[in-house]
Amino acid sequence: MDKFNIAIDGPAGAGKSTIARLVANTLGFVYVDTGAMYRAVTWNVLRSGIRPDQEAEVISVTERMDIRLAPGEEGQMVFVDGSDVTTEIRSAEVTGNVSRIAQIAEVRRILTDKQKRLAADKGVVMDGRDIGSHVLPDAELKVFLTASVRIRAERRFKEIQDQRSDVTLEQLEQEIATRDQMDEQRETSPLIQAADAVLLDTTEMSIPQVVEHILGLCRTKVGGGK
Ligand code: C5P
Repeated sequence: MDKFNIAIDGPAGAGKSTIARLVANTLGFVYVDTGAMYRAVTWNVLRSGIRPDQEAEVISVTERMDIRLAPGEEGQMVFVDGSDVTTEIRSAEVTGNVSRIAQIAEVRRILTDKQKRLAADKGVVMDGRDIGSHVLPDAELKVFLTASVRIRAERRFKEIQDQRSDVTLEQLEQEIATRDQMDEQRETSPLIQAADAVLLDTTEMSIPQVVEHILGLCRTKVGGGK
C-alpha cells in the first residue's frame, strides 16, 4: 500500500500537532493541522470586530476568507488571504474564543469540506477533534491521543513561556479543561474517540516513543509506512 490517511484526534495539549508533523515527515506525507483552520477563522472574526455570538457575521467571514496551510521550518504556517498569521493565531485571545467559533455548525461544514478536499488524494496526516469520527471516517489509521490534564498543561506551559510569560500553570490547566469541556459537549461533531480509533495515553510517553508507536501501527494495521 502506498498512500493512506491517518487521523489523529484528542483533547487540547495532548501533543497532536508535534506528533502528527513528525509522523508525516517520516512517511513523506502532508500534515494538516485543522485546529489552525479554526484558529484562523477566529483570528479573522476578532480582527473584523465581530463577536463570536454574531453567528451570521461569523459565517459570512468564514465563507469569504481564503485559508492556506504550508509546511514551515518550525511547524505549519498559516496564511489568511495571503497574510502570514502563523504567530497571531496562537494568541491568548484566539485560544480563549476558538471553541465558541468551532461550535457553529455552518463554520464546521465549511472547514470540513476544505479538510476533506485536502485529504482526497491520500498521504495525509490530519489532526483535530473530529477527524476520525466525522471528517475522514474512512481513514486507514485512526489514533486518539490523550494525557492527564496536568501533564497537558505542563507541556503547554513549557511551549508558550516565551509568548505568555504572565500565565501560570494553574491558569493553563483551567483554560485547557474549559476548552475540552466545550469541545466535548458541542452538538455538531464533538470531540470523541471514533469506535475504530486506537487509544494512546501519552502521559508517561516521550514524543519519539509516541511517534514510533504510530509508525508501528502503520505497519501492522495498514501494511504501510517505514
Ligand atoms: O488543536 P488546537 O488546540 O489548535 O484547536 C483549537 C480549537 O479548534 C479546539 O479547542 C477546538 O475548539 C477547535 N477544533 C475543532 N475541530 C477540529 C480542530 C480544532 O473544533 N477538528
